[in-house]
Amino acid sequence: MIAEIRSGAVVGIDGYGVSVEIDIARGLPTFTIVGMPDAAVRESRERVSAALRNNGFRIPGSRITVNLAPADIRKEGSSFDLPIAVGILHASGQAKFPLSDNVLLTGELALDGRLKPVRGVLPVICYAKEMGYRAVVIPEGNGVEASVAGGIDIIPCADMLEAIDYLAGRAIARPLDLPPAVKPEIDGIDFSQVTGHQSAIRALQVAAAGGHHTMMVGPPGSGKTMLARRFATVLPPLDGDETLEVAKILSVTGRLSPKVPYSRRPFRAPHHSASDAGLVGGGRHASPGEITLAHGGVLFLDELTEFRRNVLETLRQPLEEGSIVIARANAVCRYPARFQLLAAMNPCPCGFRGSPLRSCSCTPTAIKRYLSKISGPLLDRISIHIPVKAVEPERFESNDEARSSSDLILGEVMRAVVMQKNRYDGHGDYRRNADLPLYALDSYCPMQDDARHLLDRAQRTLRFSARSRRNIIQVSRTIADLEEAEMICSAHVAEAVQYRVPPDLL
Ligand SMILES: [Zn+2]
Repeated sequence: MIAEIRSGAVVGIDGYGVSVEIDIARGLPTFTIVGMPDAAVRESRERVSAALRNNGFRIPGSRITVNLAPADIRKEGSSFDLPIAVGILHASGQAKFPLSDNVLLTGELALDGRLKPVRGVLPVICYAKEMGYRAVVIPEGNGVEASVAGGIDIIPCADMLEAIDYLAGRAIARPLDLPPAVKPEIDGIDFSQVTGHQSAIRALQVAAAGGHHTMMVGPPGSGKTMLARRFATVLPPLDGDETLEVAKILSVTGRLSPKVPYSRRPFRAPHHSASDAGLVGGGRHASPGEITLAHGGVLFLDELTEFRRNVLETLRQPLEEGSIVIARANAVCRYPARFQLLAAMNPCPCGFRGSPLRSCSCTPTAIKRYLSKISGPLLDRISIHIPVKAVEPERFESNDEARSSSDLILGEVMRAVVMQKNRYDGHGDYRRNADLPLYALDSYCPMQDDARHLLDRAQRTLRFSARSRRNIIQVSRTIADLEEAEMICSAHVAEAVQYRVPPDLL
């Protein structure tokens, strides 16, 4: 007797179909799972046996073979428990229900038959939706992520019996019981709390509006980290496609919950002691790293020079391609990693080079060695360099300074976002000015003559690379967009060129 149950699994952040075939044949009692199962899948035998027994069923005293097809992809985790249990009940005739090939089942079984949430349900649901399945049976604990997908019937079940009742047509789908979502709140921080730093805040606004990679350079205690944290308050919301991608990443890493507002751009700040695997992903389970968790949002690297050079070098490929390929024994998977880099560093080992408050005690060789930790190719990808100067103590006393609130800054950022959306929607896979490829610059970045002359002159004098020139044009585009200007004028280019000066020239 054979039963075939539809299920799904995940590679990277994409779901794919797995067919769970159960054969019960005469012979000595055995229970075998084939089709490249990992240890957690093999342990499914124990969980399924206990769950069946504890719900009044029996394990057929014959030869049970479970095949997970396709056989050439390694199967991981515990999400096949439910389809295996349901398949055994059907194949042994202990439960009567029609086998449906347009319902997909996924879920881990507790020993008493309750369904426990599993990772990666959202990509599986998205797969089911794409393939035209009618419904997906999931553990009710995965309800939040199921609600992100939409457009397909979701059957949240508390336990195995509920799932069988649904398949047998004895129960109808009950609505998802969702806990109230947590309102995105960023710890009460706001740019209006910042004294001084108006030019740095302006540069951060440009960075937020166009998604440009940015670096802040300044002495210790000048406010780089404080500014970086507030950068999160002026990031535009994710659009529909981005929201789904971010939610899928949270789903496969088991982080999607009502406490994590997945509609907000992620802001990740890994410590400088982070390993290669921690930063870009990898390890035994080829888990996604910080750069994938930052996809669609910001990767903040504070104390950039403290990161090991080889760790920083691993960022080059994802910065270029917007994704990272992780290889391991049996599979290669690609994770999305289109993040905006925000870095902060001191200008020299002692930190006070160029500071009016204290003099720098570093030798030119020490400074050179210090700056050489950041490789040229990495530096070349940073479009906005922001000098952050310490604020004089007296400025904190006076209250008459004009300050911009995060709301006000975000409002202007949104104008630039709308300009970009109108320009790029339906034209290639770029969404923001920072993603514009070289070949698209001419069509999307029309410049007035004097603006182009200024750019040519700056390139000759400051000897910019071709990539820098492209970055300057992208940033000029964003500055023009903030003013809702179609043409880039010389003032836009001048501001963009000013952001381009790298730290050794400060
Ligand atoms: Zn120094």
